[in-house]
Amino acid sequence: MKTIDDLEVAGQRVFVRADLNVPLSGDTITDDGRIRAVAPTIAALLERGAKVIVASHLGRPKGEPDPQYSLAPVAVRLGEILGTPVAFATDTVGDSAKATVAALGDGEVTLLENLRFNAGETSKDEAERGAFADRLAELADLYVGDGFGAVHRKHASVFDLPARLPHAAGLLIEKELGVLKRLTEDVARPYVVVLGGSKVSDKVGVIDNLLGKADRILIGGGMMFTFLKAQGHEVGASLLQEDQIPVAQEYLARAAANGVEFVIPVDTAVSGGFPDVKNRAPVEDFAVVDADAIPAGALGLDIGPKTAQLFAEKLADARTVFWNGPMGVFEHPAFADGTRAVAQALLDSEAFTVVGGGDSAAAVRILGFDETKFGHISTGGGASLEYLEGKTLPGIAALEA
Ligand code: ADP
Ligand code: MG
Repeated sequence: MKTIDDLEVAGQRVFVRADLNVPLSGDTITDDGRIRAVAPTIAALLERGAKVIVASHLGRPKGEPDPQYSLAPVAVRLGEILGTPVAFATDTVGDSAKATVAALGDGEVTLLENLRFNAGETSKDEAERGAFADRLAELADLYVGDGFGAVHRKHASVFDLPARLPHAAGLLIEKELGVLKRLTEDVARPYVVVLGGSKVSDKVGVIDNLLGKADRILIGGGMMFTFLKAQGHEVGASLLQEDQIPVAQEYLARAAANGVEFVIPVDTAVSGGFPDVKNRAPVEDFAVVDADAIPAGALGLDIGPKTAQLFAEKLADARTVFWNGPMGVFEHPAFADGTRAVAQALLDSEAFTVVGGGDSAAAVRILGFDETKFGHISTGGGASLEYLEGKTLPGIAALEA
């Protein structure tokens, strides 16, 4: 795989596929980690006299412009971080993009509007995706892939565009792949994996592969309820993936057979409804219950204090930790304790610690932890999971071709 050092970028139009999919509240960026993560690549290209065209998706618009998913606030923040103005194109391949790119001088940078405002970006139809990639290719001479958080997507800007231009990997992708190699080759043991979050079906797959690699697997977040149910417990109104129950049962059996310690919560923090995350209103009916006594109608929203203690013990002697997915609805202070406890346990251990996942990384920062104290905070949750599952990542394969 080529790196940016292998490209002659001076005076060239360089398309940088970044992942600037940051959490927004209105047009305020609540966590700018992904912008800071790609800034060194852009800065290096600008330094070498490139005309840099940055592109990204944001959220899940439906293939047409949708103002709530505009990258305009990101252009402002990117400019602050780079210390240079970022010209913003109000479309992706239209008149504004063409004019903005044409006006770029050497060492200048523009950000295009959200790639997903175009149906071709995410289309399953190769021809439709290819046609959009053709239009993107007209804007640039070279391609740099640095949107690690999107490399598991077979999207036009990730997969089809690099096939149309001389290409290389950016600094962020180089770094992320280096870390993932440390989790798959010659892992320092005990190797402990902590999984949580809400995208249960996305994450169940990785367990399959980890059952042959990790020494311990700790399950929190929304996923825990599928495992509790698999063990025969009632889970009230908690997040549950019915169709995954047999899979969960099979994993529990295989873990026991393989000598992998599979740790499932023993208690959970519940409420009768989803908390008001926006206003952080107090939760009147907050309660902690044992995992085998979740009342009907109760919604499990965090691991409980006994589980937090148990997880901390299971992490104490780890030499390698991979953590993906918050332990609870950390966006509300009533349900942030489990996530905070796991983050603290990572810091208290001597392990090489990797935190993956957009929300997990944001949680660490929003809860006030010093991100530099972690071994690595990945910008890609789905991407790092799929890598650990042993899948081919389309955006990496395209850069290697
Ligand atoms: P990541 O982005 O780190 O991969 P996910 O996107 O899978 O993580 O999940 C993050 C979300 O999971 C957070 O918004 C959090 O509120 C939610 N979550 C965690 N635990 C629960 C739970 N018990 N019930 C519902 N949602 C949960
Ligand atoms: Mg997420």
